[in-house]
Amino acid sequence: MSSTLRPLIAGNWKMNGLRASMSEFEAMIAGAPGVTGKADLLVCPPATLIAAFAAKASGSKSVAIGGQDCHPKPSGAHTGDISAEMLADAGASAVIVGHSERRADHGESDHLVRQKAEAAWRAGLTAIVCIGETQTQRDAAQTLDICRSQLQGSLPEGARAGNLVVAYEPIWAIGTGLTPTAKDVEQIHQFIRQTLSARFKDEGVGMRILDGGSVKPSNARELLGVANVNGALIGGASLKASDFLAIAADCP
Ligand code: PEP
Repeated sequence: MSSTLRPLIAGNWKMNGLRASMSEFEAMIAGAPGVTGKADLLVCPPATLIAAFAAKASGSKSVAIGGQDCHPKPSGAHTGDISAEMLADAGASAVIVGHSERRADHGESDHLVRQKAEAAWRAGLTAIVCIGETQTQRDAAQTLDICRSQLQGSLPEGARAGNLVVAYEPIWAIGTGLTPTAKDVEQIHQFIRQTLSARFKDEGVGMRILDGGSVKPSNARELLGVANVNGALIGGASLKASDFLAIAADCP
């Protein structure tokens, strides 16, 4: 069943993008009708651009908008943070939580990621929860153990196929140009699927599992064709409309 899930192609712009980037986003909207037969499209720009991008996308409805992080609380004295409710108010329909850069740069634990996923649901957003191992953990053959424990700790109870997406992003592949082999991806995604379905039953069977880490037009077709790969979370290659759309066009 999982191989029939509609793919999600999600772009994580990270700390990139100014108002001048609207033209690139407009190019994505213009090209989206050519690929929406194959995949759902989501762009997660920096928070400063969410409202403008959402307003621009509202006419076509072919590209959804997401945030890159949220605070667990809906409001309060948390300088510099942004709540899930604020993201929803700005026009987002999803939020990435637990990205490895947040886990590393801001010391985010599985427990905090889980609270953020719950906050996303409270605000009506889909939570895209990122997991993945470091190079050292991979070298020590701990990949599946790390994924198991991150899934256990970061995913709240009651997750459903409609409100949770898992993104498997090996940290050593992010922004490096390196990618796991298709065989490795197949093994790890199958393990994630088994873990999700054991815990969430039919809902876990229907959850989308994205592949991430240096996905680009030259490798997308192979990676997106792997069993239990239900789309991709894309960093660098999502900044260019032509690359982002080319990846979506490679969905099976
Ligand atoms: C990411 O950080 O989510 C990511 C996948 O980055 P890149 O595609 O640039 O490796």
